[in-house]
Amino acid sequence: MVILLLGPPGSGKGTQAKVLVERLGIPQLSTGDMLRAAVKDQTTLGVKAQSFMKKGELVPDNLVIGLIEERVVQKDCQKGFILDGFPRNVAQADMLETVLSKTQKKIDRVIALQVPEAELVKRLTGRRTCRQCGTGYHVDFQPPRAEGVCDRCNGELFQRNDDVAEVIVDRLRVYNDSTAPLLKYYQDKGALRAIDGTGSMTQITATIIGYLEK
Ligand code: AMP
Repeated sequence: MVILLLGPPGSGKGTQAKVLVERLGIPQLSTGDMLRAAVKDQTTLGVKAQSFMKKGELVPDNLVIGLIEERVVQKDCQKGFILDGFPRNVAQADMLETVLSKTQKKIDRVIALQVPEAELVKRLTGRRTCRQCGTGYHVDFQPPRAEGVCDRCNGELFQRNDDVAEVIVDRLRVYNDSTAPLLKYYQDKGALRAIDGTGSMTQITATIIGYLEK
């Protein structure tokens, strides 16, 4: 099953994708995570991508599509995968169709998580992540037991350099301009389900699972 998670930054795509990985046994393909790993390792791609990411802009399509193309042919993607943060514009969505058709796959479900903008800003500014195991926290809504320290592995918590107020404004603008048109794109294909992304995480997961089982 190929599942696509759409939604603005902070809508919970990554969080829900991680739960779905456990439930469905298929991997999460997050272009944001892949790009951050490339920046950390200072690969050729990482060096090219970092200035765009720091400003909250989209990394050029040709750089991102290569990541997806290489990833979907790997063995663990045979039974399907969850796309999180890709596609981000109509050109990428078109490229995705081409890549999938080469592997005899198609998008089975598109989920659009909906969260009001004021809530997104609160979520993103307070977001913290463990450097070691990747567990997510929020300084107010889901604080760790000891400030700055991961409950699970004692790793150091950090704030993404694009989770600061000035960059968040740009990321939301980029979402509205470039990514939101995908809602209509997939709606026209009859594949879109909008899901309320506010409320308890378990309730949102239950709604998603209910839709996937249909
Ligand atoms: P994310 O973790 O999905 O919020 O992505 C973080 C940043 O990585 C974005 O603000 C973009 O700069 C870049 N990025 C992630 N996915 C894509 C994509 N599909 N196309 C272009 N840029 C992306």
